[in-house]
Amino acid sequence: MGKNIAVVGTGYVGLVTGVALSEIGHNVTCIDIDEKKVARMQQGESPIYEPGLDEIMKRSIEAGRLHFTTKHEEGFQGKEIAYIAVGTPEKEDGTADLRFIEAVAKDIAQNVKQDITVVTKSTVPVGTNDYVLKLVKENLAEDVSVDVVSNPEFLREGSAVYDAFNGDRIVIGASSVHAGDLLEEVNKPFGLPIFRTDVRSAEMIKYAANAFLATKIGFINEVANLCDRLEANVEDVAAGMGMDGRIGAQFLRPGHGYGGSCFPKDTSALVKLADAVGYEFDLLQAVVDGNKRQKLIMVDKAKEVIGSLKGKKIALLGLAFKPNTDDMRESPAIDISRELLLSGAEVTGYDPIAMENAPHFMPEGVDYVPSAEEALQGADAAILVTDWDEFKNLDMSVYENLMAAPLLFDGRNTYSRDVVATSNVEYYSVGRKPVN
Ligand code: NAD
Repeated sequence: MGKNIAVVGTGYVGLVTGVALSEIGHNVTCIDIDEKKVARMQQGESPIYEPGLDEIMKRSIEAGRLHFTTKHEEGFQGKEIAYIAVGTPEKEDGTADLRFIEAVAKDIAQNVKQDITVVTKSTVPVGTNDYVLKLVKENLAEDVSVDVVSNPEFLREGSAVYDAFNGDRIVIGASSVHAGDLLEEVNKPFGLPIFRTDVRSAEMIKYAANAFLATKIGFINEVANLCDRLEANVEDVAAGMGMDGRIGAQFLRPGHGYGGSCFPKDTSALVKLADAVGYEFDLLQAVVDGNKRQKLIMVDKAKEVIGSLKGKKIALLGLAFKPNTDDMRESPAIDISRELLLSGAEVTGYDPIAMENAPHFMPEGVDYVPSAEEALQGADAAILVTDWDEFKNLDMSVYENLMAAPLLFDGRNTYSRDVVATSNVEYYSVGRKPVN
């Protein structure tokens, strides 16, 4: 039977969680403090770009299983489970900012009138769920019992809906057997493998998984930089490495650095978490530092090839941190354009989906145009930042015909070198020999 569930925070994680839980038959109320967002969602419109989300959202709203509100009191009414899915951004010192988590814990305590299981979906440092349990208990308005469950989220932006129904595992770390059983029952209809553990190990699984993936990307990026200097082809190297079952072929695609709302902040937070208990996580610190460097490799290459960038018109193709999302957080486009502007270049940017978000994250002084063609028109060079399908499908003749000089720096190894070789485009990519 469907459970009555509140989900607090309707970002990429909260909204997808709420929608997915309602799709499998639970009665869900999503709570957010952002009135504009809530008004849009009440109309069945998703405030974030996530393929497939609008469709399921509308279906669940029509079926009466999915509601949205800005009022915590209304949202928690009659709920036996409260998911926390608010942001845990990076503080200036690299640690995780738990302000939003603390606020929600207090909101839950003040508003619940029945026993409640608090489920933390947000990525939080080890020990945070114990702290949440304490906070809720200390601030309770009614005499009810409270449990906590760490249930970290592994979805990937851009395929979040698919991942909700097809993920590799659901991790449940509960403060009591009863709470763990309850969460297992809630998640059973997804039909995915469920891994039960203690609260702290569940919290650690999320950080360790993200840190490992970031390390894998960091590693292949370093190998690519070496290939670049030794005239080997990183694509072949990665393919040959990935055939080894112990290594695995995924996450071996080099590029100009990872971004997004998770890897950068979660790797920093884990380094800081280690610091706090007197342990130096040198390996992960090297990954963090290496990624900062990596974001500028295409600008460095452009300087090497062109010389001074002063007055040069440079087109940025793609601004989002990866394809199929409008998320701009920590996108390499930000560092790249800042460095280009500092070097005196004129920067024109285009993204198929992130145009609305981009100006809030990018440095002042970037021009935005509504198509790749307009960005390339008269450009002295182009940097391919995000490997959207739209760019993958661009014919080389577009670069040849529109640019002042067809000079392309591909930070995502989007094109096959053989295809580029049939054109006049001068082409530089990551860990592969230049073409033309
Ligand atoms: P987000 O910033 O997109 O959304 C957070 C939402 O919470 C916002 O809509 C905000 O208005 C709302 N909010 C803040 N305080 C609130 C309050 N007191 N009451 C109600 N709503 C409130 O965040 P996100 O990207 O969905 O990430 C959420 C968490 O999940 C983070 O800890 C993140 O690390 C983790 N996570 C994110 C992803 C991802 O791909 N985005 C993947 C796995 C885990």
